[in-house]
Parts: sequence; C-alpha cells; structure tokens
Amino acid sequence: MNLYNIKDKSEQVSFAQAVRQGLGREQGLFFPETIDPLPDVDALLELPLRERSIRLLGHLLGDEVSEATLRTMIEAAFTFPAPLAKVSERIHALELFHGPTLAFKDFGGRFMAQCLAAFRTNDKITILTATSGDTGAAVAHAFYGLEGIEVVILYPKGKISPLQEKLFCTLGGNIRTIAIEGDFDACQALVKQAFDDEELKTTIGLNSANSINISRLLAQVCYYFEAIAQLPKAERANAVVSVPSGNFGNLTAGLIAKALGLPVKRFIAATNANDTVPRYLKTGVWEPHQTVATLSNAMDVSRPNNWPRVEELCRRMGWALETLGSAMRSDEQTVDALKRLYAEGYLCEPHGAIAWDALQSELAADEVGVFLCTAHPAKFKESVDEILGLDVPLPGPLAKHAELPLLSHTLPAEFARLRAFLMD
Ligand SMILES: *Cc1c(COP(=O)(O)O)cnc(C)c1O
Repeated sequence: MNLYNIKDKSEQVSFAQAVRQGLGREQGLFFPETIDPLPDVDALLELPLRERSIRLLGHLLGDEVSEATLRTMIEAAFTFPAPLAKVSERIHALELFHGPTLAFKDFGGRFMAQCLAAFRTNDKITILTATSGDTGAAVAHAFYGLEGIEVVILYPKGKISPLQEKLFCTLGGNIRTIAIEGDFDACQALVKQAFDDEELKTTIGLNSANSINISRLLAQVCYYFEAIAQLPKAERANAVVSVPSGNFGNLTAGLIAKALGLPVKRFIAATNANDTVPRYLKTGVWEPHQTVATLSNAMDVSRPNNWPRVEELCRRMGWALETLGSAMRSDEQTVDALKRLYAEGYLCEPHGAIAWDALQSELAADEVGVFLCTAHPAKFKESVDEILGLDVPLPGPLAKHAELPLLSHTLPAEFARLRAFLMD
C-alpha cells in the first residue's frame, strides 16, 4: 500500500513507514494513494468478522503484509465481537465497547500496536502519548506486554475520571503513566516538544500512537462491514450510519468502507456543542470556537484532526460534502436523548445517545438506521447513573482494575523534567 502526505503529495511512503512515522512533513496526514473497490462485497459479508477483516485488510495492504502475518495480527487484535443490537423497528446499535477497555478505540489501538510490533526496526520503541481519558486506556491495554515497546502516557492530574485513571494507571510492566500538573493542552504541548527534540527522539525511538495513525483507521473500517453484515439483506441498501464524532477518525473509516464498496447510503456526523463540522457543512465557513466541556467528553474537540482526510476522500470520490449529514446536540438534549433511549429499553451513554438522537431526526421513512455505540455505559457511570437514576454495574474488566493501586508518577508541566524522566 502506498500513501501520500495530504499536505505535500511528493512525500510518499509505504504502509509500514506511515505506521512508524504517524505524521508526514509539516504535520501532514498520510492517506492511501488508491482505494480500489472490493471485488465481491456480498460474499465478504457472509464471513465472520476476523476472517472478513483479514481479506479486506489484505486487499487494502496488497503484498506489503503477508496473509499469515495479517492473520496473526488480526487474531491478536480483534479478540472481542461487535454485535448489532436492535433498538426499535428501524434502528440498530452497533456495540463497539466489548473490548478490554470498553470503548471502540480498542479496535484501532490494538491493531496499531500489532502493526508497530510487526514493523519494528529500531532496537527500542517508546510510545509517548497524551490522553484526556479514553485513548490512554486503549493504548495502554493494546501495547501491554508487547516486546521491545515502552509506553509513556501523560494525562492531566485530577482532570480525568477516577475510573478512567484506574483503567490505565494500574498495569505496570511496559506501561508507565505520568499525571501532569496542568491541563490536557499542557500534556499535548509536552508531547509535541518531545517530538521536536531530535536527540531524545532517536535515543529512545519515540513514536506517537494517537488517533492520526493510519493503521487505526484501517482497523476501524472492519466494523462498518460487520454492522452491515448483521442487517437483513433486504435492508442493506438503505442503511444510514450515524457516527458520534470528535476527531473524525471514526467517520473517516466509515467513508473508506463506503469507498471499498460497502453499501451505506449515507453517514451522519453527530457532535456535541463542539460543532465546528456541523456549522461548516451548513455555512461553508470553517470557524472553530473555544472547546467547551460536555457530558460526551471524548468528543470535546473543536479542531478535529482527521477532517482533512474526510475532505480528501470526498474530493477523490466525487462525493459532495453536502451529502454528509450532520447534527449537533447540547448537553441538555443529550440528557433528554439518554432518557428517551432508556425508555425504549436501551441503556446507552452520552456519546452513543447523541448519535441515536441525530439518527432519529434525520432518518427518512424508507431508511434503516445504525448508530455507533462507542463506549460502554459503565465507562461514563457518573453521568449515566445520575441522569437515569441507576447504579450501572462495572463489567468484569473495569471492576478488576478499580481494585488495583495506581502506579502513576507525578510531574510538573515542564519539558526538562519530562525529558529527564524519558532519558533515564
Ligand atoms: C474517541 C471517541 C469518540 C470520537 O471518535 P473520533 O474518531 O475522534 O471522532 C466518540 N466516542 C467515544 C466514547 C470516544 O472515546
């Protein structure tokens, strides 16, 4: 598979290089040079998730990765299902939260970890990443125990939920976590400084593992096929998929699935009050506001970093951006949606509820809707319990980690201190 940098098309890389590098020159995103339609989508849809994923990723990656290697990677990464639950007559929930950290980021994170391990050339790789909550857990669990890979995760001290902290700061082994005395932006700034430090970078083999890595998106393409595969055949051509969106990686993966020939009629991008994209699609003006904190905090993003990929793909496919549906939901509307959805018999959390509500209002009479449930309700237990008056039980993996002691270090938001820690 060949990829190019969207900001500078003369920079071309293989898939392995794109995985290792993450970003291209000028922070440009890599994008596949060609996305050929799959030869027989109907037959693929008959296969089980892992078998189908091996074939479709094999098609995308070409001869760069052998089928045997791909099989090993997929079998190690996709260790959990993505069931489609019927919510009402025409609406289904794609549950992406059955992985070890109970969020859809397990798909991308685990596959990326497998890719980095498979394509490792340095003696040592250090994954350095900043998290505002969920990505940290997904990265930590994805890389836990992988040989030759050290992971360092920064997070804003006291600004993530106690449960989120327990989930990735209790592992130990090759996973080190640092509570930074500052906010998420300070954590991101430290990561950026580290990557600008050439000596540090080469000494410890620095690598990022954030949502821009192309391997994540390819893994996510697989569950869109799994969603459609579980729909009755007669309904497939009329499927509309609603995606709760923050950095828009999830939506990019959906669009790649469509480019590969998956029958999805259209997509809806659902956001919280951080609605840069819905406003852009309506007015044509790109005008990010200050990011605001919401109930669906994994989508508190006002400058979505995968957006250039969405535009690039739409341009190449000749899809008008206006054909992309979009909707914004305030916290008040999110609370209301969560309650109505629960009244219909489905327990959800804020991110999924936003996607469901957007689908409810955008779905035409002859269409069938799928909304993505990106996290388990227990992952947002504080708000779900309060809004619905419940005491949502922690599923097994979460309950186990909640009992363990935190192993985090604490550092001030000073690069010199972080550098010394990393070089040690
Ligand atoms: C990351 C995340 C999202 C947003 O996904 P993007 O790919 O960044 O658009 C939505 N819901 C949850 C629970 C998440 O963790």
